[in-house]
Amino acid sequence: MTEDTYKEPAPYWKGNANPFESMMLRFDKAAELCKLEQGLYNYLKQPVKQVIISIPVLMDNGKLEVFEGYRVIHDNILGPSKGGIRYAPDVDLDEMKALASWMSWKCAIANIPFGGAKGGVKCDPSKLSQSELEKITRRYTSALLEIFGPDTDIPAPDMNTNEQMMAWIMDTYSMHSRKTVTGVVTGKPLIIGGSKGRPEATGRGVMIATMCALEKKGVDPRDITCAVQGFGNVGSVSAKLLSEKGIKIVAISDVTGGYYNKDGIDIPKAIEYVKKNGSLKDSKFGSKITNEELLECDAYILVPAAKEDQITEKNANNIKARLIVEGANGPTAANADSIIERKGIMVIPDILANSGGVIVSYFEWVQDRLGYFWDEDDVNNRLNRMMREAFETVYKTAMNYNTTMRLGAYIYAIDKVSKVLKLRGIYG
Ligand code: GLU
Repeated sequence: MTEDTYKEPAPYWKGNANPFESMMLRFDKAAELCKLEQGLYNYLKQPVKQVIISIPVLMDNGKLEVFEGYRVIHDNILGPSKGGIRYAPDVDLDEMKALASWMSWKCAIANIPFGGAKGGVKCDPSKLSQSELEKITRRYTSALLEIFGPDTDIPAPDMNTNEQMMAWIMDTYSMHSRKTVTGVVTGKPLIIGGSKGRPEATGRGVMIATMCALEKKGVDPRDITCAVQGFGNVGSVSAKLLSEKGIKIVAISDVTGGYYNKDGIDIPKAIEYVKKNGSLKDSKFGSKITNEELLECDAYILVPAAKEDQITEKNANNIKARLIVEGANGPTAANADSIIERKGIMVIPDILANSGGVIVSYFEWVQDRLGYFWDEDDVNNRLNRMMREAFETVYKTAMNYNTTMRLGAYIYAIDKVSKVLKLRGIYG
């Protein structure tokens, strides 16, 4: 290593899980392994833009409330920045920064021409009416009109945001543009420029990544079990598609708690139940377990598809799974990495495992620009091909560097983005 290559500093891990620190610890390790130049390291470690906005809203009760909104652009080296918008009470700038960087690495690995971004509003959507949510979404969009655009920054759904909100974003942006601009946002309803297969895409990608891993391990899906944490869009679809491959789903959970059944849970039935009742609460799909117990239950595959920092140094030692497929963004804190590695558990990292969503977002953006829409088989076949290519790329990188799939993913992404950055050069 020359003086001018990046050297990993002493870990600044403070023990409390913070997604930005988790991201940076992996980034630092990967940067050292691939001998990233110090200047490029400095460029890529920070987002190029961080915007914080105030969102005043006249609530249904006539009172004025002000919410805080964020949009962080990590970079636009490979193309316009891309990334979802989440609504949650604990959204903060550090989380946005981590998630925006993850989007950059995810897009690079998936081989789609986007940089990374993330946005969010600090609010509790469960306490807001439809009209309040609409006002927040439209005001958020109008405050970011100079940032959003089909050629600049393209939002999408994330935690607690949905197709309806994407439709409001599209409409608000279009009203200001004096024309309909469908390509400004992805994850829209099908009838206004959405893509077939988009709602299921992240879960389908999780399934494809799992099948790739099982092929490498030489394991027959019909012989194994799986536990899925989280039963939202990602968890429920992953569980359904994995069960269709013959894998027995022995545990599922949501915010209300989880269920374990060694004989397997009927996933279509569980999906029906949640549709009718809003959650898994009181569903009796097996014996009751907590979300923490689910992570440690007896299953060959663990799919954490809920939220960040679920697997930490505190519980990593108790995990029995042999394969972890990260459906959520950042479900494993960096302080758990070495424990998991020591235990010989294979981890398909979030920036590979859950990239199906942004891959089909890319297809949606392409279709909007073409004005020509593909059938579902076409979308799913292309997704399958791109996920498999991404998996192989990461697998090969991990082999070449004799490291984990997680670091392999970071190395490939950082190397690619920094190569493009060098080719484009620094303007100024
Ligand atoms: N929110 C999703 C993610 O974290 C999708 C982002 C997108 O489609 O732009 O990957």
